[in-house]
Amino acid sequence: MSDPVTARASSDALIIGGGHNGLVCAAYLAGAGLKVTVLEQRSVVGGAAVTEEFHPGFRNSVAAYTVSLLNPKVIRDLELPKFGLRVVERQLSNFLPTDDGRYLIVGEGRTAAEVAKFSPRDATRLDEYGERLGTVADVLRDLVLETPPNAVEGSWRMALPELLRAAQIGGRLRKLDMNMRRELLTLFATSAGDYLDGRFESDPIKAAYGFDGIVGNYASPYTPGSAYVLLHHVFGEVNGKKGAWGHAIGGMGAITQAMAKSAQARGAVIRVSTPVREVIVEGNRAVGVITESGETLRAAAVISNLNPKLLYQKLIAPEALPAWKKTRATSWPAPIYAMVP
Ligand SMILES: Cc1cc2nc3c(=O)[nH]c(=O)nc-3n(C[C@H](O)[C@H](O)[C@H](O)COP(=O)(O)OP(=O)(O)OC[C@H]3O[C@@H](n4cnc5c(N)ncnc54)[C@H](O)[C@@H]3O)c2cc1C
Repeated sequence: MSDPVTARASSDALIIGGGHNGLVCAAYLAGAGLKVTVLEQRSVVGGAAVTEEFHPGFRNSVAAYTVSLLNPKVIRDLELPKFGLRVVERQLSNFLPTDDGRYLIVGEGRTAAEVAKFSPRDATRLDEYGERLGTVADVLRDLVLETPPNAVEGSWRMALPELLRAAQIGGRLRKLDMNMRRELLTLFATSAGDYLDGRFESDPIKAAYGFDGIVGNYASPYTPGSAYVLLHHVFGEVNGKKGAWGHAIGGMGAITQAMAKSAQARGAVIRVSTPVREVIVEGNRAVGVITESGETLRAAAVISNLNPKLLYQKLIAPEALPAWKKTRATSWPAPIYAMVP
């Protein structure tokens, strides 16, 4: 009997979604010699990092607008400048007008003088604040390229490599003295509001820095854990300058267009206007997808670039998921990168 699921083009890897994470994944896998197909529902790749015409003749970054967390290794490995990417450093970090008609400018070497307008004491504390965050960020910056350890069930033989990996990652914290390890734990546990209240007395600088604790986080600056979000916004870089933020010339879409070109140059196939309707699960493994138009594609690996809520609640039949995964899928609050199954 012939297989009822016929593939139009069998791939080693199918990637659902052509956001920047899907495109980077495609470029690395294609570079490793795999046959990769990206399926993107929209007519343009890039997800939230796109430049689009919002009014005839006017183009802009329509969601994400500023760059720092794009890892320099990814820029190098994917040769993004060769494919048109140019990032310039942002001159000003923030401009904060206050109700009384005054304002605070952060960046451009003016921060100390600007903060002194509101609190001379806070101005003297800026350097120490920056150094402490920078020291912790230096250690974490290295970690973003490490594969995190898996929690595994079963034998010690399976668990041991993961435990060793966890120990190696933990060992990196030895670079921090005890004082800075405490700082790191505080940053992981406390709120941005409490962290800043403990260091500054004037509201404008707390508001300017506190913004980094809530952007993309949909939480109050006093939500526990938001200090980590603040720290997260410090450990990027632009053109080798740590902690800096920049603008891609041509908008955020210039980044994802360069990624798409890099992936295609390595042989990846990118299909736009191809929404995936369903992930095919057989024997507890994702083995392919069915597109909105009814086309079926199979692959050795199915990789999702989607928010897990979309993936697990819309694209995978409920009966294909174990109970624990269904529960987790309903409680995931924010988009993250996910592998299937
Ligand atoms: C308003 C806003 C502003 C932001 N500003 C910044 C910023 O300035 N700087 C910054 O660094 N980060 C910013 N972020 C965060 C950043 O944009 C996201 O973290 C990032 O875009 C996530 O990328 P991704 O590839 O994981 O997912 P996404 O960008 O969400 O990409 C997912 C892709 O999957 C596609 N897709 C969805 N469903 C299907 C389907 N069924 N079939 C096929 N394709 C599908 C989507 O169309 C999309 O292209 C911002 C986010 C938002 C929402």
